[in-house]
Amino acid sequence: MAVEVIRVPGELRQKADALHRQGKSMGIVPTMGALHEGHAALMKCGRSGCDVLVVSVFVNPIQFNQASDLENYPRTWEADVAICERMGVDIIYAPTAETMYPEGFQSKVSLGSITQPMEGAGRPGHFDGVATVVSKLFNASRAQFAWFGEKDFQQLKMITQMAKDMDSGIQVVPVPTVREPDGLALSSRNRRLSAQQRQDALSLSRSMIRMIDTAKSGEHDVARLLELGKRELAQTPSVILEYLEIVDATSLQRLERLHANARVLIAAQVGAVRLIDNMDISI
Ligand code: AMP
Repeated sequence: MAVEVIRVPGELRQKADALHRQGKSMGIVPTMGALHEGHAALMKCGRSGCDVLVVSVFVNPIQFNQASDLENYPRTWEADVAICERMGVDIIYAPTAETMYPEGFQSKVSLGSITQPMEGAGRPGHFDGVATVVSKLFNASRAQFAWFGEKDFQQLKMITQMAKDMDSGIQVVPVPTVREPDGLALSSRNRRLSAQQRQDALSLSRSMIRMIDTAKSGEHDVARLLELGKRELAQTPSVILEYLEIVDATSLQRLERLHANARVLIAAQVGAVRLIDNMDISI
């Protein structure tokens, strides 16, 4: 059956209210489109986790801190619809920027310390933009469940915190990162990499795997592990490191020594493309 496309917040809310009255559970997978198999993995979890699955496709202007990044963000509507149909999605919610942020819009959702390091430090305003749009998506869809990728680990933690803090009753479900066979994390931004840059981008996952292997063989000192990871990354001089951190996977505070809930996160610039990735480095 063809997927239904809804473009207006009020319409989605009405539809969701009617479905609630029929006793149906609603779930949402928020995306910015340019869908790939990483998004499909979220949809697969969503399909089996609720009665009515909504996928939102919205390139959210207020979370971009660089106009060029927003402009160059890939838009692939027809292919997105085909993936949603293949994955059995019920509703695509694809509002315009004008309906999401009409003249006179004033609200901003902002979280605390969890949004300050890493992505928050490098992309001012980014997480306010994400928290604001996701709370609008949660409200309009009346969802009880939402699936988010571990690929954007800090975002996942922020949304989980927001859902709890705001008594939303929404269960935020994490989905593991989908990778290419050679280790590259799938990302809509990968389409903008040249063949050489795509090869160079493997240095992100390679560095983290090197650190994890070293941790497994007994090195638990974070400073030494980071040093090792940076040395590995420096083997690919075209990749410019923005940050490499090992943090507590819940609070996102820096660690001095590894423990049972640790995460390594990386951001780097490969040509004009900024990539992020992360892995479990718990002992
Ligand atoms: P985006 O469209 O990039 O904003 O991502 C929408 C959702 O898909 C977010 O929850 C991401 O974490 C998730 N996602 C993106 N890439 C992947 C991936 N490679 N594996 C799993 N989830 C992903």
